[in-house]
Amino acid sequence: MNTFGYAAYSTDSPLAPYTFERRELRPDDVALEILYCGVCHSDLHTARNDWGMSYYPIVPGHEIVGRVIETGTQVTGFKAGDYVAVGCMVDSCRECDQCRKGDEQLCRQGPIYTYSGHDRISGEPTQGGYAKHLVVSEAFCLHMPEGLDLAKAAPLLCAGITTYSPLRTWNVGSGSRVGVIGLGGLGHMAVKLAVGLGAEVTVLSRSADKRADALALGAARLLVSADEGAMAEAASSFDLIIDTVPAKHDLDPYLPLLDVDGTLVIVGQLGPMSDFSTVPLLSGRRRVAGSPIGGIRETQELLDFCAKKNILPDCEMIRMDQINEAFERMEKADVRYRFVIDMASLSAAAA
Ligand code: NAP
Ligand code: ZN
Ligand code: ZN
Repeated sequence: MNTFGYAAYSTDSPLAPYTFERRELRPDDVALEILYCGVCHSDLHTARNDWGMSYYPIVPGHEIVGRVIETGTQVTGFKAGDYVAVGCMVDSCRECDQCRKGDEQLCRQGPIYTYSGHDRISGEPTQGGYAKHLVVSEAFCLHMPEGLDLAKAAPLLCAGITTYSPLRTWNVGSGSRVGVIGLGGLGHMAVKLAVGLGAEVTVLSRSADKRADALALGAARLLVSADEGAMAEAASSFDLIIDTVPAKHDLDPYLPLLDVDGTLVIVGQLGPMSDFSTVPLLSGRRRVAGSPIGGIRETQELLDFCAKKNILPDCEMIRMDQINEAFERMEKADVRYRFVIDMASLSAAAA
């Protein structure tokens, strides 16, 4: 299937139109027309090859909402016209212990990412959602629950599940005290979802600029991480801190904020961290952990939870040809709180 989208052609050139092929439908595949795609900071990291795993051209985008246009001969769960979603993974080994229990993101062989991966059968590089069409196995396709705003739901597929999964892993619920470091795409979803689960949430931000937003999102307060007095007062007051900062940074200011047995879970920076003192870990039996996206079953649970609770990301809709400007603004943390590309703009932009 011939399709088109926007791709990065090198680490430092702007994204530009790209025409390419999607595979012919396998028996278990669905083909979808992409309607909306969120813009994740990982898209930017990948376009610039920050993680050393990119190939070029590469089509980013893994917060995908679309409509099924065709199904393979053995597809049972979807039919043409269904509204569906695809996140960060398009396949996994499906046989290991992790895949069997629904944690495909932890597949022993490594999941196949929506972009920056290689198809398990053909070996072809995968290409993401900044495009008109996608072909994916039905096992990695999600149902959009009725009532969820299609345009706004896209960021749930990465920012949503990446923050929902640790909230569930660490049993956040009524009475939990949750801190969120960095109020961006992931951070604002962490706030909404933790509040939705019944937690008391504090945002830890670099400045007070986002205080009114944090409160409007449902947080009880915003602490400025550079305010040593306020940070000292907050010592030992969190059960879980979700750290969404997209760069190497210092954990020392944050670890003492955890209560005994509390956990700081890193979902942002992938790579080196600054040195940090283990004193708060040993003295308070505190932990530092990490968490990657979430499994397919858990992602469906998240979509259903958001539909039920009417939780949706705060989105700024853009046209496909505004993507380079969006990347620049994301780099400056100037997005409140997720760009979403309206793919109806794509044909015009790519022509
Ligand atoms: P984003 O929208 O750019 O938000 C990041 C936020 O972190 C910013 O709004 C800012 O908040 C803060 N920040 C930015 N630069 C900072 C710096 N140098 N030092 C301290 N704080 C900084 O990014 P995102 O889309 O939420 O993604 C965040 C990170 O998560 C990225 O690295 C992305 O690759 C990663 N990610 C991981 C997974 C996973 O599976 N674990 C999944 C998706 C994304 P304030 O202005 O409030 O300080
Ligand atoms: Zn992402
Ligand atoms: Zn597996």
